[in-house]
Amino acid sequence: MNASRKTVPVSFEFFPPNTPVGDDKLKTVVQELGAMKPEFFSVTYGAGGSTREKTLNTVSAIARAGFEAAPHLSCVGSTRDSLTEILATYRAQNIRRLVALRGDLPSGTATTGEFRYATDLVRFVRETQGRDWVIEVAAYPEYHPQERYARRDLQHYVDKVKAGADSAITQFFFNPDAYFHFVEETRKLGAEVPVVPGIMPFHNYAKIAQFAARDGIDIPRWVALKMEGFMDDAASIRAFGLDVVTGLCEKLIAGGAPGIHFYTMNQSAVTIELCKRLGLAPKD
Ligand code: FAD
Repeated sequence: MNASRKTVPVSFEFFPPNTPVGDDKLKTVVQELGAMKPEFFSVTYGAGGSTREKTLNTVSAIARAGFEAAPHLSCVGSTRDSLTEILATYRAQNIRRLVALRGDLPSGTATTGEFRYATDLVRFVRETQGRDWVIEVAAYPEYHPQERYARRDLQHYVDKVKAGADSAITQFFFNPDAYFHFVEETRKLGAEVPVVPGIMPFHNYAKIAQFAARDGIDIPRWVALKMEGFMDDAASIRAFGLDVVTGLCEKLIAGGAPGIHFYTMNQSAVTIELCKRLGLAPKD
């Protein structure tokens, strides 16, 4: 890690762009965020492998630009052969970090394939590739929306870690207590790996409120009402959003979070501003 920076590492998440214009824009964003000296950039993978080539191309472009890149890889709907092939393609490019996920099947797909849960993918990578990969998995401080019972969701997460994960990145959240509680409970159950909070800056309040409603994430009422009251006043939304997310990250860092993973939505400005406010940007 860069010696001239404070102690908390950052990482940044992108989705693979859909157009050549998006590709070009992302190149600039990678350079801008690269100046924050991240541990790595990760790139999402579309449901059921729908962005397989685009994820690969985006990861390759980031690696070529000289940064560590980590593809997300989901397993549901996949076969052992197809996953082996994807891993081999990444290995050939010296990619050795992976965000291992179950993923969600595109609606209308009936079969889960040879893998049902992310735990199966983690186990598969360890069985076939040993310790060659750094494996990140997903964590849900407010629980995964498809599991009715919190205790079971925690146990499934712990099983996933014990299958061979090195580290976890959380779903986004706005309540630091949920994160601290999750870390404490899962440690008690024997999952010791670092749990890096996934932070969603308020790039676009309406969209984030929509994601939050879909995924069972609590936006505190005082934040939601204030944001809604701004209507289309983008400057106020941005300023208030920055204050809220800065406060959240400060609490997480003060409470011992081992890093911060930003959901960038392929934009740099808000994330850079947050890094600066938090003292996470390199000084030189
Ligand atoms: P799992 O850990 O397998 O859990 C899924 C559900 O199954 C949970 O409810 C869990 O409690 C339950 N479960 C697990 N094991 C068992 C078991 N043995 N028996 C019964 N139930 C069990 N989605 C994408 O499509 N592409 C991406 O790139 C992507 N990136 C993500 C990155 C992060 C950091 C996060 C937090 C999420 C990401 N997602 C992505 C979303 C994710 O794919 C969905 O949330 C998906 O529904 C669950 O994936 P998972 O890996 O968390 O699944």
